[in-house]
Amino acid sequence: MTCPDSIRALDQQDPLKHTRALFELPVETQYLDGNSLGPLPRASRQRLEHVVQQQWGQDLITSWNKHGWIRLSQQVGDKIGTLIGAAPGQVVCCDSTSVNLFKVLSTALQIQAKQGRHRIVSQRDNFPTDLYMVEGLASLLGETRCELVTLDTNQLIDHLDNSVAVLMLTQVNFRTGYCHDMRALTEAAHKAGVLVIWDLAHSAGAMPLSLDEWKVDFAVGCGYKYLNGGPGAPAFVYAASRHHGAHTQPLSGWMGHAKPFEFSPNYTPAPSINQYLCGTPSVLAMSALDAALDVFDGVDLETIRAKSLALSDLFINILQAEECWHEFCLLTPAEHAERGSQVALAHPHGYAITQALIAARCVADFRAPDVIRFGFTPLYLRYEDVWLAAQKLIRIVREQDYLRPEFSKSTAGPVT
Ligand SMILES: *Cc1c(COP(=O)(O)O)cnc(C)c1O
Repeated sequence: MTCPDSIRALDQQDPLKHTRALFELPVETQYLDGNSLGPLPRASRQRLEHVVQQQWGQDLITSWNKHGWIRLSQQVGDKIGTLIGAAPGQVVCCDSTSVNLFKVLSTALQIQAKQGRHRIVSQRDNFPTDLYMVEGLASLLGETRCELVTLDTNQLIDHLDNSVAVLMLTQVNFRTGYCHDMRALTEAAHKAGVLVIWDLAHSAGAMPLSLDEWKVDFAVGCGYKYLNGGPGAPAFVYAASRHHGAHTQPLSGWMGHAKPFEFSPNYTPAPSINQYLCGTPSVLAMSALDAALDVFDGVDLETIRAKSLALSDLFINILQAEECWHEFCLLTPAEHAERGSQVALAHPHGYAITQALIAARCVADFRAPDVIRFGFTPLYLRYEDVWLAAQKLIRIVREQDYLRPEFSKSTAGPVT
């Protein structure tokens, strides 16, 4: 397959063409799954080698000070802060997205309890862990203090009455790629006296965000998706400074103590974002993420967003011109403002098509019952990659390659 010159020209003119070299990528493969697991930044490999050999291998416990391990959660948090529009001191890197959600949900409910508000409104098709964490908290607190209400997207605003404490949403839907208007929804929630918690799993590092300016209360997100921090990289939590100090999140581990190294028998929460820390951080994992974030140095998120939309437009346009297009249902909005950094296509043979694509070295992923997801990650994807991926998909569908028996076998592997 030879890529047309018109596509090659787009890569020549691409202001992000230099960042691809910062990653180690599988050869002759179109990796359209960076929305689920980002690839390995070269700087992360080097950093890990140094941390293992020198810091852990030689300097051992002195590294907490000597190599700044003790400041890593805040340092990485502030780096992520620059990507999401948060001034320093409001983001820390720690734990997983699920655990961080528990912390901010608990805090937000405490703030709202005085007003007699106890409901958490979310979306029925939110990522399951977000809903599960509310269920867990509800079973702990009892439903008079925490009650989950799940609605469809278009019903959210109408249900924000004075029983609602929190609107908890994921900005970009993991299945469809639908992107909420975070600013408008935050404003509407505040008008109704409701606090907001945004899950930025599919938006941090993918598009410009202005959490401070939009007056977001709390947010959480993943380190291993668009931030390329590596498998199981620690997550982050944002709490606006106006919410610091007054409330205590219940995972009151020693790292969130005002003076952890005084080893007091009683818990006093740090009067800062540090209160959202719990136990000792995973230094290896956080070092990899710290180095990975430097890929964003000198890169503008507006440029990333513009290229992301250009890539997904190109993909959709190539497919729409084909006979086989009618077999698909495009779940991702055509409207740019409503589109995240992925394209989701439903097809009755979605699972087998995804397997056939992977066998053809085009890595996408599948979400039950019938959705194929393609992630568009501008830092390392070329227009040529998108063209090649589209050609592979067209061939597989046109020739019904996916009917081969090896593609319908279900592998019981995890899919996050
Ligand atoms: C990927 C993802 C998560 C993952 O949560 P972990 O606790 O880090 O496993 C959570 N929420 C959303 C919306 C996601 O897309």
